Amino acid sequence: MSDRLTSAGCGVEVCLTSEAPAPHCPHGPTLLFERYIRGAPSGEKFYACSACRDRKECSFYLRYGEKMSEARQEAWANITAASQPTYTHKQFCKRLVEFRALPMSKRRFCESCSLLLLPAEWEEHSQHRVLQTVTLDQLTRPTHLLHPRENKKTNAQYLFSEKTLQFFLSQVQQLGYDRVLCVGVPRLHETIQSQRAARLSQLDSLLLDIDHRHAQFYSEEHFCHYNMFNHHFFDGGSASDACLQFLHRNHGTGIVMVTDPPFGGLVEVLCHCMKKLFSLWKEGLPDSCQETEIPTLWIFPYFMEQRIVDCLPSFRMLDYKVEYENHPLYQEGPKSKKRGSPVRIFTNLPTDRVVLPQKEGYRFCDLCRRYVAPENRHCQKCNCCTSKDGRTYVHCDLCQKCVKPAWSHCESCRRCEPRDHVCSQTQHLGGCYICGHPEHKRRECPQRFSEERYSGAERKSGKRKRKREGNNEAAQPAK
Ligand code: SAH
Ligand code: ZN
Ligand code: ZN
Ligand code: ZN
Ligand code: ZN
Repeated sequence: MSDRLTSAGCGVEVCLTSEAPAPHCPHGPTLLFERYIRGAPSGEKFYACSACRDRKECSFYLRYGEKMSEARQEAWANITAASQPTYTHKQFCKRLVEFRALPMSKRRFCESCSLLLLPAEWEEHSQHRVLQTVTLDQLTRPTHLLHPRENKKTNAQYLFSEKTLQFFLSQVQQLGYDRVLCVGVPRLHETIQSQRAARLSQLDSLLLDIDHRHAQFYSEEHFCHYNMFNHHFFDGGSASDACLQFLHRNHGTGIVMVTDPPFGGLVEVLCHCMKKLFSLWKEGLPDSCQETEIPTLWIFPYFMEQRIVDCLPSFRMLDYKVEYENHPLYQEGPKSKKRGSPVRIFTNLPTDRVVLPQKEGYRFCDLCRRYVAPENRHCQKCNCCTSKDGRTYVHCDLCQKCVKPAWSHCESCRRCEPRDHVCSQTQHLGGCYICGHPEHKRRECPQRFSEERYSGAERKSGKRKRKREGNNEAAQPAK
């Protein structure tokens, strides 16, 4: 891992190479982090939760090399036990059969508990908010029934707009795939499953998601309670077997993965786990097959491009703007940002195969061999279509690259900067306050929350930071 310091002089890196088995928290194996402090290359190492960026949600913390006392081990075992879903997946499946057999007037859903209720349980939930009828159609669309989790730090769930949903659906069909591994994309999964149930399409899918509320709607063949930050199957062998079978169906051919992880997730960690899925898939391929990666569409913000390509060099960013229904800033319309959603698709497919909708203005660039956004322009000097953030970038001869249109070349910084930047600061700090990335600022940094969580007290706060932020373009809300 590279040594990335924040400008405040400290930072946190995840160590993915450690051989020692990591202790478990309720979210499966924890990750080993290392704190960096300026001037001290190797700081303190500690284990913390892979999935929760909010200490309030999962406070697991163990110094590397320290042994956990038996009392603490027991306390964590109790916390883990208490965090288990009320029913096992098998029990949920049985309940679903019973539930479906009920007349509509007896099919109720407790919104407070996110639970389909059987008549014997009504009493228990009488003080809760209960939906009095559930249609069979609603049962096939759980994301419309469940309230999206809104915890900004860990579990915020942003559901695709109808337009984006249809785009992904037609994409996987046009590309000729017969099944989709849906990692953190419940709305795509349910759309595929409901079309399949209605015999409108043969397309199949498997949902891997940390939100166990989905277990009550799907069989074990169609849902695994899974953590994509540590490749952990909560239900053990039977769940990972179901996933393997899905990966290896038809000798591994015909599968595509679509994933929309929380934007605060560490790219290195997501890639690490994605590679584990790739190698599981690879095991089922005939020896003659040279492929090493599942064809993948990974949805993530444009400013993470460099990090993604560093980890997965076969991936390219596409111009398509991914829109969400419950996130006003990520949509078109009056409340949105002028340049539209900052969320893009990263793919290891040949870029010319992913056709972006012409009626939304996307067109094919012959030189780049990919579909580009209407505002994008092919720069002769860079020899590619260079716009990234939804505006048309302009070429700077001094920087020898295209830059954001609102930037201008600064003599003292010797590079293009926002017009109102304060030279001395950018010169010293450069780029993101947290990860050092030149393309985004602290408030846009997807690592912001992990940083706050793991190094909170040590971070410098106060005027200087705020002043810098004043120079920023509108911050991206964290997903
Ligand atoms: N746009 C998608 C939803 C994306 S929201 C859609 O419309 O279907 C992010 C999704 O990732 C949520 O479903 C959330 O439950 C899931 N998720 C969050 N953290 C996760 C983790 N650690 N492992 C697996 N899934 C996770
Ligand atoms: Zn945890
Ligand atoms: Zn081009
Ligand atoms: Zn250029
Ligand atoms: Zn310049």
